[in-house]
Amino acid sequence: MKYGRIVVGEVSRVCEKTKRIHFHDAEQSPLHFDILVAATGVLNLTPGELPNDIKLYRDMKRHFERVSHAIQDSSRIVIVGAGPGAIQLAGEIRARYADKEITLITASSTPMSSCVAALSNKFHIQLREKLQQLRIRIIYNERVVQPTFKNIDERDRFLRNTTVNTDGNLSLPADLLIWSAPVRTRTEVFPVEWINELGELTVEATFQLRGYPEVFAFGDVTSLPETKQAETLPSKVPVIVHNIEQVAIAIQAGLHGSMAKSLKKYRVRERELICLPLGPEAGVSQITYSRVVGDKYTSDAKGKDLMSDQFWSLLTGRQPSDRKFLDEDERGSECSAPHPSTAATMEMEALAQV
Ligand SMILES: Cc1cc2nc3c(=O)[nH]c(=O)nc-3n(C[C@H](O)[C@H](O)[C@H](O)COP(=O)(O)OP(=O)(O)OC[C@H]3O[C@@H](n4cnc5c(N)ncnc54)[C@H](O)[C@@H]3O)c2cc1C
Repeated sequence: MKYGRIVVGEVSRVCEKTKRIHFHDAEQSPLHFDILVAATGVLNLTPGELPNDIKLYRDMKRHFERVSHAIQDSSRIVIVGAGPGAIQLAGEIRARYADKEITLITASSTPMSSCVAALSNKFHIQLREKLQQLRIRIIYNERVVQPTFKNIDERDRFLRNTTVNTDGNLSLPADLLIWSAPVRTRTEVFPVEWINELGELTVEATFQLRGYPEVFAFGDVTSLPETKQAETLPSKVPVIVHNIEQVAIAIQAGLHGSMAKSLKKYRVRERELICLPLGPEAGVSQITYSRVVGDKYTSDAKGKDLMSDQFWSLLTGRQPSDRKFLDEDERGSECSAPHPSTAATMEMEALAQV
């Protein structure tokens, strides 16, 4: 990184008055800030998201091997949630195992209810047909009351040999239970005044916190009325970077952040672009509200390699052909800056032109 440094540590508290960030590790000195960007995301217990303490490639590989063996050894798999993550996971399991019983449980009356912008009827019809073909059952309007996410060890990321009970008195035996519904936004380290009733950081269209112009928030942790997707982030980056620069200029001139000039505003995306693979060869995508495409497009755009080449390039600044797995020594090596617009977005934008 040319202009900056990476500090590794788990933040325990952010103090707005003293402008300090404190760490859980008492040995780690607090950091002072003039401008803060909060981007702590959402706590998710799905096995697809790595437990916090995994830092090395070797441990990551072990984690996924353990999850993979648990899936292999289970006949009845219950997934809590029916959002994009839960459905994609079910599709991946079905692509590998024809005979497993796969059940998703959601408190909503439709799949994908976490998508804020509208998904068309066409999308929903295709999705339901495909799930039926793949024998992926979804139970709607039932909230899982036992076990709860608190029973899921953050390190293990699944429960084995349990009975799943719902508020509608359903009782389902499960050899494997995976919790694929978001648990909460990770705002516990911030002052309560920053947090809205949904537990999110309340941002303006400038990405500044309402009432705190020197504090920005970005990504899943914010209150922006948009589906929480990584794919939305590249178009937001130029807006927040410009605004941080403007606030920095104001502070350097001895002014308060609220005096910053010519701030840009982000316009919430109206259309819903979603690419939902169901294993490497199947899936459904909504390109525009009226344009819904099926297996081939979804597979080519995402399902066949889950965009791993593109993300490799994005995160390392290298060509996909240079791709190799990181070993421990490489973990800390410096990477050049990624291109500001992600390959994922470019691919979906290209698909939108087809
Ligand atoms: C299984 C799954 C599949 C997904 N698939 C897609 C997809 O196909 N397409 C798509 O567009 N989006 C997808 N998403 C959503 C996407 O991952 C998120 O929108 C994106 O990661 C949000 O980025 P973020 O930077 O806001 O938060 P995160 O990526 O969650 O990053 C937050 C970071 O903050 C750190 N952090 C939190 N609290 C602390 C603390 N106290 N101290 C120090 N560090 C802290 C976390 O460790 C983490 O590194 C998926 C999500 C999941 C869970």
